[in-house]
Amino acid sequence: MVDLKGQYQKIKAEVDSGIQEVINNTAFINGPAVKEFQADLEKYLNVKHVIPCANGTDALQIAMMALGLKPGDEVITASFTYVATAEVIGLLGLTPVLVDVYPDTFDIDVEAIEKAITPKTKAIVPVHLFGQCADMERIMSLAKKHQLYVIEDVAQAIGADYTFSNGTKAKAGTIGTIGCTSFFPSKNLGCYGDGGAMYTNDDELAKKLKMISHHGQSVQYVHDVLGCNSRLDTIQAVVLKAKLKHLDEYAQARNKAAAYYDRVLGNHPKIKIPARVKHSTHVFHQYTIQLNGVDRTKLREQLAERGIPAMIYYPIPLHEQKAFKSERFKKGDFPVTEKLCATVLSLPMHTELDEDTLKYITDNLLELLN
Ligand SMILES: *Cc1c(COP(=O)(O)O)cnc(C)c1O
Repeated sequence: MVDLKGQYQKIKAEVDSGIQEVINNTAFINGPAVKEFQADLEKYLNVKHVIPCANGTDALQIAMMALGLKPGDEVITASFTYVATAEVIGLLGLTPVLVDVYPDTFDIDVEAIEKAITPKTKAIVPVHLFGQCADMERIMSLAKKHQLYVIEDVAQAIGADYTFSNGTKAKAGTIGTIGCTSFFPSKNLGCYGDGGAMYTNDDELAKKLKMISHHGQSVQYVHDVLGCNSRLDTIQAVVLKAKLKHLDEYAQARNKAAAYYDRVLGNHPKIKIPARVKHSTHVFHQYTIQLNGVDRTKLREQLAERGIPAMIYYPIPLHEQKAFKSERFKKGDFPVTEKLCATVLSLPMHTELDEDTLKYITDNLLELLN
């Protein structure tokens, strides 16, 4: 699904010498590269504060802690997403309120958000799934009307540009109250282990996020609130700093592969290619097709036999997971999500896909669908 080795070869010199330097200086925790990467990312995103942390799940959790959400508060998010988004809501004793997504873009359904708002609602967590932004302009106007926080889960869409109807642009994750991202190796900006970050333009909130991710500490050994221990390792910051310089190229390479898939698969009656929206660029964390009248399990096996990986993101809707069992939801409540879980297939997508590989993938896929 991804080729991290090919990508590494191109930045090997910088990464290797940077990592060696960290080891030479034994600056494993909070070494200079962490601050440097943080500043580089702030500049790239045009956001006032980036607060690095240990992973994307922590980023979401710390964001919700910093907003002072209390048990019983309702947080609205999509039923079609990676488990982490909803998991932290439940873990903090908040109430996850799931809503369906749009069938073409996989992003959270804004009408469904509006219907789900109650006096207990405190926050909305839109997920920019697969690399394209949710409808942030409408989400922000809903949030303003009902005085809700917006936590963007931008784990899959770092670098995507959002365009408002008045023409202004902003990077994904810098529009809501807080943006949360992941640097898991296979993400668009991935390190060589775990990593994550929060973004915000709010100075007070930035202080809180930093404090919470550092044991609630204001001054050394003075702890004002209960926090956690969530840091980005210096070695990971070295890798991220090197890769950030190439992030736009990486997005271009992904878009080139996506355009190839579109061209070759776009007219097939059994395939629905991923829709594009006007309000966002797409950074193609995943290229996800929907299959129509196809035995997906068999197709995956046949592709695997020919050396072609294909993944199902995500096979089981959150509301059908045991961990999220609730009187609020039952099977049948989110028909779009349920249909997507049964029909989606993500094809290999990364920065190193050349035309020969793409041709091999699509030739085989089309042959197997006949
Ligand atoms: C990867 C991912 C996360 C979690 O990130 P980790 O770094 O693995 O904790 C959260 N939300 C979404 C949508 C993701 O894809």
